[in-house]
Amino acid sequence: CGQATRLYTEEDPVVILTSDNLKQTLLNSSTAWLLQFYSSWCGHCIQYSPTWKALAGDVKDWSQAIRIGVLDCAHEKNFDICKEFSIHFYPTFRYFKAHVTTADIGKTYRGADRELQTVRQLMVNFLQNHTRQDWPASCPPLEPARTEDILSLMGQKSEHYTAVIIEDGDSYVGREVILDLMPYQGVVVKRALNSEKLLMEKLGISTVPTAYLFHPNGTHAVMEVQKRLRFFYSSFLKLLPGVHRKQATSVQQPAQIANKGQGSNEVWKEFDKSKVYMVDLESGLHYLLRVELATHKTLEGEELKTFKDFVTVVAKLFPGRQSVVKLLETLLEWLVSLPLEKIPYDAILDLADNKMRISGLYLSEHVQWVGCQGSSVALRGYPCSLWTLFHVLTVQAASRPDALANTALEDDPLAVLQTMRRYIGTFFGCRECGKHFEEMAQESISQVKSLDEAVLWLWRRHNQVNARLAGSMSEDPMFPKTQWPTPDLCPTCHEEREGLHVWNEDMVLVFLKQHYGAANISPKYIS
Ligand code: FAD
Repeated sequence: CGQATRLYTEEDPVVILTSDNLKQTLLNSSTAWLLQFYSSWCGHCIQYSPTWKALAGDVKDWSQAIRIGVLDCAHEKNFDICKEFSIHFYPTFRYFKAHVTTADIGKTYRGADRELQTVRQLMVNFLQNHTRQDWPASCPPLEPARTEDILSLMGQKSEHYTAVIIEDGDSYVGREVILDLMPYQGVVVKRALNSEKLLMEKLGISTVPTAYLFHPNGTHAVMEVQKRLRFFYSSFLKLLPGVHRKQATSVQQPAQIANKGQGSNEVWKEFDKSKVYMVDLESGLHYLLRVELATHKTLEGEELKTFKDFVTVVAKLFPGRQSVVKLLETLLEWLVSLPLEKIPYDAILDLADNKMRISGLYLSEHVQWVGCQGSSVALRGYPCSLWTLFHVLTVQAASRPDALANTALEDDPLAVLQTMRRYIGTFFGCRECGKHFEEMAQESISQVKSLDEAVLWLWRRHNQVNARLAGSMSEDPMFPKTQWPTPDLCPTCHEEREGLHVWNEDMVLVFLKQHYGAANISPKYIS
């Protein structure tokens, strides 16, 4: 156990970037880039990774024009660079043009369709957005060729084949085949449009796409392929006699990334699953305050209100070490005393990291997981700590009903849940998770009438998520998604009625209050 497998490894056809080499790689790059900023704890990023690897493999031969990379924003080393690039949600897809000379944070692809073919076609469009000046040096023209240039090839001897794909203006086949053949010598590929009547007539073409091949000896004929698809055209051309892969290409390689130190040497920490670990809660807060929120340059309007309510809830209810609670209280006082409608997040970080440190108030320096550690660094961690934190907070609210007195959240049995709902919807990096959570909240949160019901509501919804994710790729095989608490943790929570399993919810409530109660939070591993 403790053996790390990251979402992407050096074996994959993607380029793995880090804070050490991202800017240097993009600056003055001879190729364009399509990068995925992901988070190794984000379930959707995990599920999407096979598509991204397949895409990178599919367009490997395009690498002299455009390359595919990844950067893990959940890696501590990359926290600052993800902030600098304004990455708020995962995954975020960004295109970077070739030859950028100044700091450029790229262009975001916001479309919901992330299917391989869609993204591949977007890559083509993006390449075509380059101007003559910044066109990637090795990338052949993707514009349709002129009729007279093609007709002039007839009867001409040449040192290479010329393939011309005649197609509709919105077809991608020609452009994809042009890019597929980039690393090959002995053949030049062009595309032409079926709107060119003279060309169609002269070549005797009536259906598109059709590929026409001009041989080095001056003859020409329609290319006979089984199916008029990209793969068939590209394979046909690569197999022509005299067509070879060029000598090793000279694409700039980003400085090798040492994957070590990214958690792969983490030592497994023994833990007891019947306990909650303070180190997980503090690491979660650390990640939330210093990383997740820090990607927002300023907070205003709804975001600021959500942040204030969140700080109110944790400052009043977090059953933590005195120094941490004091830090949260100081932060709250500061936020309440500020009449500003807009707060730069750097000011909050400065307060938490520098000013309070002088008085000995600070959060743990590093993120470290114990009850939330995964069998690989890409699993569990932050989302596990966030669930844990909110379960602890609902239990605290139920056992200390006056804790939120004299705050805007006073006397509201939904205070913690609504704060969580707004936090998840506004700031949680996994946007899809936020959407699902919002759907659940809309469906049933209004039925919660007491602080005890709030504890149970969160338990039920968490089990609903567990049921949905069971067997998915974000499931840690060492920690399978189950309906929780399992009978070994709470035998009295389970009953059978007429042969069917049912929960004894009274006992579940008792168990949740004990499990997530302050007395069950272990200080082990807190340094
Ligand atoms: P987690 O589900 O994170 O649970 C952490 C710990 O809580 C468990 O180890 C257990 O001790 C305890 N626990 C388990 N079930 C319950 C329960 N019912 N009540 C109380 N305590 C319990 N991932 C996706 O891929 N898709 C999503 O849509 C998605 N939505 C999410 C929504 C939210 C609000 C959050 C916080 C996370 C979401 N995630 C989603 C992440 C996912 O739920 C897990 O957090 C992640 O896969 C890590 O799983 P885990 O094994 O550490 O256990």
